[in-house]
Amino acid sequence: MAAKQPPIGIDLGTTYSCVGVYQNGKVEIIANDMGYRTTPSYVSFSSEDRLVGETAKQQSAVDPQNTVFDAKRLIGRKFDDAAIQEDMAHWPFKVTSDGDKPRIEVTYKGQKRSFHPEEISAMVLVRMKETAESYLGGSCEDAVVTVPAYFNDSQRQATKDAGVIAGLNVMRIINEPTAAAIAYGLDKKTGGKSKERNVLIFDLGGGTFDVSILTIDDGIFEVKSTSGNTHLGGEDFDNRMVDFLIQEFQRNAGEDIGNNKRAMRRLRTAAEKAKRVLSSSTQASIELDSLQNGMDFYTTISRAKFEDLCIDLFKGTLDPVQKALDDAGYKSENIHDIVLVGGSTRIPKVQQLLAQMFENRELNKSINPDEAVAYGAAVQGAILSGNKSQEIQEMLLIDVTPLSLGIETAGGVMTTLIKRNSAIPINETKIFTTYQDRQPSVCIQVYEGERAMTKDNHLLGQFHLHGILPAPRGIPQVEVTFDVNANGIMEVSAYDKSTDRGHTIQIKNDKGRLTKAQIDKMCQDAILFADDDRSAKARIEAKSQLENYVHGIQMNLDNSNPHLMIPPQDLDILKQTCEETQRWINVNSDASEQQFTNKLKDMERKCAPIITRVYQNMTSRGGSETLKVPETKKMDEVD
Ligand code: AMP
Repeated sequence: MAAKQPPIGIDLGTTYSCVGVYQNGKVEIIANDMGYRTTPSYVSFSSEDRLVGETAKQQSAVDPQNTVFDAKRLIGRKFDDAAIQEDMAHWPFKVTSDGDKPRIEVTYKGQKRSFHPEEISAMVLVRMKETAESYLGGSCEDAVVTVPAYFNDSQRQATKDAGVIAGLNVMRIINEPTAAAIAYGLDKKTGGKSKERNVLIFDLGGGTFDVSILTIDDGIFEVKSTSGNTHLGGEDFDNRMVDFLIQEFQRNAGEDIGNNKRAMRRLRTAAEKAKRVLSSSTQASIELDSLQNGMDFYTTISRAKFEDLCIDLFKGTLDPVQKALDDAGYKSENIHDIVLVGGSTRIPKVQQLLAQMFENRELNKSINPDEAVAYGAAVQGAILSGNKSQEIQEMLLIDVTPLSLGIETAGGVMTTLIKRNSAIPINETKIFTTYQDRQPSVCIQVYEGERAMTKDNHLLGQFHLHGILPAPRGIPQVEVTFDVNANGIMEVSAYDKSTDRGHTIQIKNDKGRLTKAQIDKMCQDAILFADDDRSAKARIEAKSQLENYVHGIQMNLDNSNPHLMIPPQDLDILKQTCEETQRWINVNSDASEQQFTNKLKDMERKCAPIITRVYQNMTSRGGSETLKVPETKKMDEVD
């Protein structure tokens, strides 16, 4: 076997995929065996074989039920995900449910077979791997694979799994807009007076439209906002052109080809070609011999006509741009760079409308828009492999967590371990303790979201840590660690120091992580409800403080600490006050923050002078004991 090759960068797209490699100081985008630099993300199954790429796409009109595409819309989602349910109506292939996961059902070699979306994506990845191998002349194992910025943990994990199935060592999963910004070296420029650089990535592909705003600061990429339309792209422009041409043929030849599958397929291919031509010429011709009943179809279409057919769709790209700006809190003049990604950004009218929105600013389009993402992924691969070239050495590339991550603590409070937009990889540890006396186990419930109470956030997973030694509440120490690796995939572990016992879970895709829309909504809700959240949290904290105060005193009294030497009348006051307050808490567990705070002040008025006296006595006697007040943060009791 030939020597191991440098890492490859793969843009695994919804409609097309692209592969590149960094070699001899520059990126090469690698053409497939048919000479094309992008490969359709299609897999077709037949009675004899399995086709991938160009040849598979050609089968979509001939054998639509067994020609699979759009695996990226399925990957890492649950079957009942609204997006899948909506898309299913338009897919010619069958999608079934296996547990809660989607499966794609086809007939292959005469037998019914069903595939996970990961397997279909893996087949596309294998094709990209082979493309690179035949160019480099050796085996390619290491790869950087890109995903949309809004992909959640589950979708990222599933994409990584697809890489593993394809026999790749996925060194890292990076965001597509980040890759595009890297391709243009924007991380190496500084943004005017400030060091920060704000970049808008406008990605209009074959079937999807994504807008992302990134801020790059010292090599750290932060996704400020994402927006777009999951069903807008080149295929919609093709459809407009096809509809127009059907009518044109009807006018010219008196023939309706609407139900003629073969004629429709030929017309669609010709329309797409003409569309591409119109990006560089003002006129394109369609020449289809014997389209139906021996009638030829020869016509021309102007760029102006094409723009007229699609203008509402083109203009429709501007709303998500505005939304992304609003969400990031920027005005158009705050954006330093605009980067074009996706084949459809070659359309002059699309470029013109976008430039107008940004005071006719120059757009970054020198790298082929359908190659920019793979280009950046290849650069990232070189960095990760420790490439020594000067250019690569200067880069430090980091992505961030899209949402805050934390666990539920007493009263349903979200205690955040990792803040939203933290650079990854990241590892954070916090110590927690028990909520009840002699609590035998704790329940670690992991959430993502920006709200103060976990009920408003999204549960990612949970587990119990059992076998905690019987101890008063507040004494056991449970160390909880969140570890998010460079791919955005998380592991949570809990460790009981006294028993040396621990438990770890990986947050897996079977929990069905959030959709982009849900993430957007959660972030918006967080702003909307920030005030409510603050007061709910303050109320619970006030309650905890009161409970802790009572508990701290009770614990010392119960332990009958001989050093304390509390006079009997003071002891009675302390005991009585604790009992009274505990009764009050039991009856008034829904009291307001103010009521809990007042109650604490009452208690302090009665108990603090006694405690101070006890301390003074102890110090004068040289004692070292302290009144223990447990920490305010506690785990919930397990059921
Ligand atoms: P992508 O998924 O980013 O590779 O984008 C593919 C889409 O870009 C397809 O719908 C293509 O028809 C479209 N496309 C590629 N080249 C051009 C071009 N020169 N003009 C207009 N659309 C193009």
